[in-house]
Amino acid sequence: MTTVAAYAAPAAKAPLERTTIERRDVREHDVLIDIQYAGICHSDIHQAREGWGEAIFPMVPGHEIAGVVTEVGSAVTRFKVGDRVGVGCMVDSCRECESCKAGREQYCERGQVGTYNAVGYDGEVTYGGYSQKIVVDEAFTVRIPDGLSLDVAAPLLCAGITTYSPLKRFGAGPGKKVAVVGLGGLGHMAVKIAHALGAEVTVLSQSLRKKDDGLKLGADHYYATSDPATFTELAGRFDLIVSTVSAPLDFGAYLSLLKADGTLANVGAPEEPISLNLFSLIGGGKNLAGSMIGGIAETQEMLDFCAEHGIGAEIELIEASQINEAYERVLASDVRYRFVIDTATI
Ligand SMILES: [Zn+2]
Ligand SMILES: [Zn+2]
Repeated sequence: MTTVAAYAAPAAKAPLERTTIERRDVREHDVLIDIQYAGICHSDIHQAREGWGEAIFPMVPGHEIAGVVTEVGSAVTRFKVGDRVGVGCMVDSCRECESCKAGREQYCERGQVGTYNAVGYDGEVTYGGYSQKIVVDEAFTVRIPDGLSLDVAAPLLCAGITTYSPLKRFGAGPGKKVAVVGLGGLGHMAVKIAHALGAEVTVLSQSLRKKDDGLKLGADHYYATSDPATFTELAGRFDLIVSTVSAPLDFGAYLSLLKADGTLANVGAPEEPISLNLFSLIGGGKNLAGSMIGGIAETQEMLDFCAEHGIGAEIELIEASQINEAYERVLASDVRYRFVIDTATI
């Protein structure tokens, strides 16, 4: 075991504080990663505050991890010391079920093991990226291409793959009209990726406050959802809408913006159930879909795509001592567009 500095929430809703945790010794298929950057995802806050139900404390959040390999197990074949790597939202799965075999480990039937706030198949609690080192099986480690800086690459491990996966699955590309709801950590990645895929991109945001940013990030159009005229003007416009907001929306209103056979893919996770009049789906044969992160091979594909297109996250780099303040700013939607912790400051 190795003792490692980390930032942890000691209890639900308690501020995060500096502490130490133990990392397991490197097993034959493991890599030891010297973490350099860790993104702050909105779901870190949901979990640290038990918004999604009972959680495990102390909790070291963080599932947008970028760093460098410093040790490899005897059976590791894909990585060597010095490689630039990332770890996202999961660190293990059964590898045998239909989902795992199809490269969709995030939907593992036995249950994938979360990077933090989870118990591994070995019975040990997992701790995430707000720490200086992590030990991960090479099968759940991805390569960060040379063209991507580690700080702007870190948020791709959750925000990037969470938006890339539904954009690809539902056919975002040339000739397609794609709307992105919400221009936050996830939304800004969705805009960049949808634009790079060749789609015509529209941002639907509460206000026009971030319009200039949205257009710079690659959006072709930008509308305020607080203006009722937006819903009249855009009725039946889109092939695909990706909703990235974690507040409950009027899904019926958004479904009315789809063409026939269009899809509203939801990647945000509101803490409350939503209600929906199903006529908004039936009329037009529309689809309401969910999507959660992406598989490991798809995550590698996303990183390679982002490197090829020069896409990184827009970040505000912070020191570990600013994590609690950053949480408050995320909750107030006051971040452009992802906080990333310089883990050397832990
Ligand atoms: Zn996340
Ligand atoms: Zn499985």
